[in-house]
Amino acid sequence: MFKIALSAGHGKNTPGKRCLKKIDKKETREWVLNSRICELVEKNLSNYENCSVIRLDDKTGKKDISITNRTSTANKENADIYISVHHNAGIKGGSGGGIMAFTYLKVGEKTEKLQELLYKKLIDKTGLKGNRSTPLSKANLGELRQSKMPAVLLECGFMDSTTDTPIILTKEFAEKCALAISEAIVETGKLKQKQSAKKLYIVQAGAFSSKENAEELVKKLKKAGFDAVIK
Ligand SMILES: [Zn+2]
Repeated sequence: MFKIALSAGHGKNTPGKRCLKKIDKKETREWVLNSRICELVEKNLSNYENCSVIRLDDKTGKKDISITNRTSTANKENADIYISVHHNAGIKGGSGGGIMAFTYLKVGEKTEKLQELLYKKLIDKTGLKGNRSTPLSKANLGELRQSKMPAVLLECGFMDSTTDTPIILTKEFAEKCALAISEAIVETGKLKQKQSAKKLYIVQAGAFSSKENAEELVKKLKKAGFDAVIK
């Protein structure tokens, strides 16, 4: 059994973790964006044999589960990999940003490989390359330091960037991120698709800015082995 510890960062009401009001009037909470991607990853992986997803956050968003709780669950469950999904901040209403992927300061080859694979797939699917000088970085973050298995923390764009924020708020972006993360997990765990499962993926046309974009995702899903339709 290939076990994936999946952590949507924070909780819905964690202070400060939200989009910048000047760009997003609703001040969408970071957990909402993180969790949306994690849910789609879970859905994608339900089509694969011999794998299980351990969600480390509170799926209702009400509680912000502590980092120590999250990592001890992953360690106790003997997860094979740990992926934490976040969205970034620090641009303060300026432009630029992009996706970043972090590992702990000292890691093995397996962890670096997972980091590179996740980042490469995320950029390939979303195009949100941004302008960070070191999008693949190392950092002394609790989730990465305290977890015993290869662990990567993803920052899927900036919540306070005029260029990133309108993109990361779309359902389309979440779908693309989830597909990228799912593919990286499938490759890492050498997972096989369930024969019995009907691998139908419904792409909601209303969530896309154009028909071409929806069709593009259908193409990518089909290439990834899903049966996809636009509704
Ligand atoms: Zn975060």
